Order: sequence, then C-alpha cells, then structure tokens
Amino acid sequence: SDRQPKYKRILLKLSGEALVGTEEFGIDPKVLDRMALEIGQLVGIGVQVGIVIGGGNLFRGASLHEAGMDRVTGDHMGMLATVMNALAMRDALERSNIKSSVMSAIPMSGIVEHYDRRLAQRYLTNGDVIIFSAGTGNPFFTTDSAACLRGIEIEADLVLKATKVDGVYTADPVQNPDAIKYDTLTYDEILTRKLGVMDLTAICLVRDHLMPVRVFDMNKSGALLNIVVGGNEGTLICG
Ligand code: UDP
Repeated sequence: SDRQPKYKRILLKLSGEALVGTEEFGIDPKVLDRMALEIGQLVGIGVQVGIVIGGGNLFRGASLHEAGMDRVTGDHMGMLATVMNALAMRDALERSNIKSSVMSAIPMSGIVEHYDRRLAQRYLTNGDVIIFSAGTGNPFFTTDSAACLRGIEIEADLVLKATKVDGVYTADPVQNPDAIKYDTLTYDEILTRKLGVMDLTAICLVRDHLMPVRVFDMNKSGALLNIVVGGNEGTLICG
C-alpha cells in the first residue's frame, strides 16, 4: 500500500474473547492468522505497533471469584492466561514473517522477556511488534487499563480498542435496534453517561493524559488499516 500513515505508533488492545473465533474454548489459530495479516499491513506502511492482549477467553479473576476462588489468585490466573494468548499471537506474527517479541509484566524467564519500557521503545523504533502480556502485573486491574497504561508509557499516538461492534452506541446495539453510534465522545461524556466502554481506571488514565482511543470492529477486514491512514471507523474518544 502507498497510503501514508496518520499515526506513527499505536497501541492495539485485543480482547481474549476475540481469539476464541469458531472454537468452543481457547484459541482459534485462524483468528490469529487473520489478525496477523491485518497487523502486517500496518507494519508494511511503517506504523509501529504495540499490542496488549486480554485473557478473557481462558480465565477472568472476577468470574473465578464468583465461583468461589480467592480473587487475587483468580487475577493471577487471568494474567497468566494473557501470556498464553500472547505466545499464540507471537507465533502467528512470526509465521507471517512479522518480527515480534512478547514482554510480560510478571517475570517469566526463559519464556518471555520481562517488561522494560526503554527496551520496548527501542524494539518499536526498530519496527518490531511488541506484545505486552500479563496486564499491569497487578490484581484488580483489567487489560483495558493495561492497554491505556502501556499506550501512555510508550508514547503511542493512539490506543485502538478492538471490539465485536463497530464503536460505542447509546445502548447495546445487539439488544436495542434503535441504538445510535457515536462518532466521537469525550472522556467526560463516557463518565457522565455511564457508557461501558472500558473500566473507570482505564478511562481516567487516558483522560488524565489526553490519550485518544478509538473503539472499532476488528472483525471488519481493513478497518485497522483504514484507521491508521486517517479513516473514520468506529468511535473516537478524546478530550
Ligand atoms: N488481570 C489482572 N490485572 C491486569 C490485567 C488483567 O489481574 O492488569 C486479570 C483479570 O483477572 C482479568 C484477566 O486477567 O479478568 C484477563 O484480562 P481481561 O479480563 O482484561 O481480558 P479481556 O476481557 O480483554 O479478554
């Protein structure tokens, strides 16, 4: 593609749920391959890509806690789940000849590198895709918060949150056919209208650091590339 990128460095948040695809549980390699293809298009036009991957397809601390488990232990399991997803994502990227590394907020010597912000910056400048795993490394946080945190840390120009719907709506569009999509939203509108885009920790982080976030549909092929060249997909959240 000869299209010029509008953003030099982005942070892409992929939910674990999206990785299930047509499988009943776990990871569908076909989904990963398609994502790798789309990410490769960004790398191809010179965009630096950081990824934060979720773990909800495998474990969520809150759900394990509801079933009776200690919350912190459940969150540890959830964070480890994101590392598994990250390994699968790296595998898909490397099979597509996209240079990539996984970093983990929880040290896991011999499997992935420990998160190091300066090293991550250097890799990104080099054109490598970096997958940030294990969330923030702390219980009671989500990978949405981790995405906003890492996005701010690596000085990304934009945080991209991939979802199943193409943006933020006035109500759940699946249940309410009259729901209207927002083209743009401010951080404060999300807070006052109590829109469930991301958890409050994540919203407050991006608001305090004026980090723009775009919510879009990852199942729509070409959407990711379109956003990066300045297209109007989904919903843009900014000040
Ligand atoms: N998690 C955590 N701290 C973090 C990020 C994640 O404890 O900083 C745990 C938490 O239990 C969460 C699970 O990891 O439920 C998986 O992450 P998340 O639910 O955000 O994944 P997604 O919904 O994006 O698939």
